[in-house]
Amino acid sequence: MRLTFERLSGGCNLHRCKLCGKVVTHIRNHYHVHFPGRFECPLCRATYTRSDNLRTHCKFKHPMYNPDTRKFENLMPSSATQAPTPTQIAAASQAMVAAAAVAFNAAQAQQKEQQQREHHQQQMQQHAHNLTQQTQHLLHQQMLQQQQQQQQQQQQQQQTPQMLNKSAVHPQQQSHNANE
Ligand SMILES: [Zn+2]
Ligand SMILES: [Zn+2]
Repeated sequence: MRLTFERLSGGCNLHRCKLCGKVVTHIRNHYHVHFPGRFECPLCRATYTRSDNLRTHCKFKHPMYNPDTRKFENLMPSSATQAPTPTQIAAASQAMVAAAAVAFNAAQAQQKEQQQREHHQQQMQQHAHNLTQQTQHLLHQQMLQQQQQQQQQQQQQQQTPQMLNKSAVHPQQQSHNANE
């Protein structure tokens, strides 16, 4: 095939066809203009006289290559820019629905979990409230006991000087009484 083309200097992969003089960039595409009966695989250069044979060859040997469009499909980035087929759209929509369902379920589970957590927090808060009330009650009781003890101590302290005073006063009173 290379013999039918003359490579031109200046880069850009320019070739002049020796058969018709046309300057082309894709020599294989132009080659089939002159030899339509020959179908060569551009990947392994296997040649076939019929296009369907080359198609079958490519289908099994190079599944990513489409000989009709002369483009690599599937795993190639160019496939992403191509319009998706109805089956791809259906699959994508099904996947989206499935993803949405998963997201919905996850959100619901999260909500439920949060509700449970809030309920638990409420219970904990209630428990803490009860505890604080109990401790406050206990503290109050302790305070009351302490107050009572203090009052008792004060009373005792007040009583003892009174007793002392009484005992101190008593002889005076006695003496006073005695003096009278
Ligand atoms: Zn030509
Ligand atoms: Zn091939």
